Amino acid sequence: MNREERVKLYALRKEKAKELWHAGIPDLPLANEELILLEEKFRTWSDSFQLNLLEKGFLYVLEKYEILITSTENSQCEHNGQIRTGLDYQNCCGISYEYTNDLSCRTAIEIILRNTAGNKIEKYKERIDSLDKRFKAIPKNDKWIVNQASIEKYEKNGYWWFYGLPLTVKE
Ligand SMILES: [Zn+2]
Repeated sequence: MNREERVKLYALRKEKAKELWHAGIPDLPLANEELILLEEKFRTWSDSFQLNLLEKGFLYVLEKYEILITSTENSQCEHNGQIRTGLDYQNCCGISYEYTNDLSCRTAIEIILRNTAGNKIEKYKERIDSLDKRFKAIPKNDKWIVNQASIEKYEKNGYWWFYGLPLTVKE
């Protein structure tokens, strides 16, 4: 794909995401005002994240979170049916910037939780709580994994998942 084609593709994806925001998140019945607010909050997120959320639904984000937890618990990741362990894992998902990037799915869950009327998200609460419990049980160091500017933005109580890098993930 040349540069021109890529630019065209990106524009198409942006247009598609914009369109899909009107239709809403498939497995989350939201009021119009909630959708407008969420679209605004996720505007700076990647198009591919937005498209996945809007096409596959909130469950997609929950699944991403679960995959990250399982992968971190077992120190292994899987891509296209290929399992990576040991050094292969360390150089793939077991590296701090990858891990931090993947962890943005927990931020997405929080954004949706905080901007959605409680009763709509109720049926997912139990699953989120049990995933959080597993996530918290993973041994971690006692450092923030995001930079100073983000720390100020993400106060410890609100965005606790950014506090502590799992001991199996390298810095
Ligand atoms: Zn990986």
